[in-house]
Amino acid sequence: IDAEAQSVLDAIEENDVDFLRIQFTDILGTVKNVSIPASQAEKAFTEGIYFDGSSIEGFVRIQESDMRLKPDPNTFAILPWKTREDGTVSARLIADVMDASGSNFAGDPRHVLKRALKKAGNMGYTLNAGPEPEFFLFEEEDGRATTITHDAGGYFDLAPKDLASDVRRDIIYGLEQMGFEVEASHHEVAEGQHEIDFKYDDGLTTADNIATFRAVVRAIAAEHELHSTFMPKPIAGINGSGMHTHLSLFTEDGENAFHDADDEFNLSETADQFLAGILEHAPAITAVCNPTVNSYKRLVSGYEAPVYVAWSDVNRSALIRKPAARTPAASRIELRSPDPSCNPYLALAVMLQAGIDGIERGLTAPDPVRENIYEFDETAREEYGIDTLPANLGEAIDVLETDEVILDALGDHIAEKFIEAKRAEFDDYRAAVSEWELDQYLETF
Ligand code: ADP
Ligand code: MG
Ligand code: MG
Ligand code: MG
Ligand code: MG
Repeated sequence: IDAEAQSVLDAIEENDVDFLRIQFTDILGTVKNVSIPASQAEKAFTEGIYFDGSSIEGFVRIQESDMRLKPDPNTFAILPWKTREDGTVSARLIADVMDASGSNFAGDPRHVLKRALKKAGNMGYTLNAGPEPEFFLFEEEDGRATTITHDAGGYFDLAPKDLASDVRRDIIYGLEQMGFEVEASHHEVAEGQHEIDFKYDDGLTTADNIATFRAVVRAIAAEHELHSTFMPKPIAGINGSGMHTHLSLFTEDGENAFHDADDEFNLSETADQFLAGILEHAPAITAVCNPTVNSYKRLVSGYEAPVYVAWSDVNRSALIRKPAARTPAASRIELRSPDPSCNPYLALAVMLQAGIDGIERGLTAPDPVRENIYEFDETAREEYGIDTLPANLGEAIDVLETDEVILDALGDHIAEKFIEAKRAEFDDYRAAVSEWELDQYLETF
């Protein structure tokens, strides 16, 4: 047993941990759990934990169902809300998924991200990523979620209007107990909508953190008898929930490769190429960063969400923004399309691979768009050469299928399963008859 695993065993001992939840994420981003008594921890590290992969969405067929979970000792954390509940102490470990032959399983999203990170590593870069996840808190009725907002606060409102600040405070405590560095939290623009920003970290840690974040928010909200949702657009007519993602590449000696003091935006040529790569692959990565039918109800004009493929230094309607950086370490770009329903591992993997492609091909970014793009008509957009993001999940899957770089980033197994699952989801949606249609047509025709 290695030193890292040993330190986890020590921590289990010290904290009287009773149960370990071994977690991994399926292709659609759902966190799966296997619970083991703490006494089995050593064996989990030496032998792994066997499970039947055929029962996991998008994993494997019956004949190849012998899968093994290999816990990553770096991800040990005590689950604060579990511990409060009934006196027993539970901790979690995030695992890599191995196939029957003992190799990393091609359908493990965490492995897809690791592959992208390794590619960046071979070029001498570490990815840093900082997300800004937004979510709604709704009231529950008879144990079921409603869309009744918990408060009527607005952007940066303070109590007493912001009733949810208690919940947010408890969420932040929970996150801090799990090792997060929370940088900011505020009420968002819409009623009942919130944002909690935590400090950027390397890509793998950030993806793990996003998965953890969603679990913490859900659990703590439930303690307050509220339903939290990361659904991108739960209420028509008000802002949806996004997950802007800040990205930069650091070199091996910890320098920010995106920083250039001589540049107007303090951004280097590498940053520019990376940005250009993301712009080029933006339509194809949308399926991954905005993977639900509902995601596209957020990506419409007028609600601070991006619709057009352009970047800006001043404009918050653009797909990519160059935020003002106060220190060299803070030089970064911000991708504003992702939403919190995405699989964080796959989302970061495709963003990174798109950026890397830009660096490898030495792409140059177009000029920034400083006007309000929402107000552009088609001619103006053509003049600027501005593409639009896919309008719905069906279109998003169509463009994903044409982008070899992004398909490669996902790998054959995940690309195939993802596209299959998302096509089925979209077909199902197309066949459904909505409230809107009944309102429009039932009495008209
Ligand atoms: P906004 O101005 O869009 O609201 P915030 O200031 O709320 O942005 O969020 C900034 C995010 O960017 C945080 O998660 C922060 O840790 C992260 N960040 C800061 N510097 C970097 C960097 N060099 N690389 C990646 N992320 C960074
Ligand atoms: Mg923010
Ligand atoms: Mg901010
Ligand atoms: Mg926000
Ligand atoms: Mg932002």
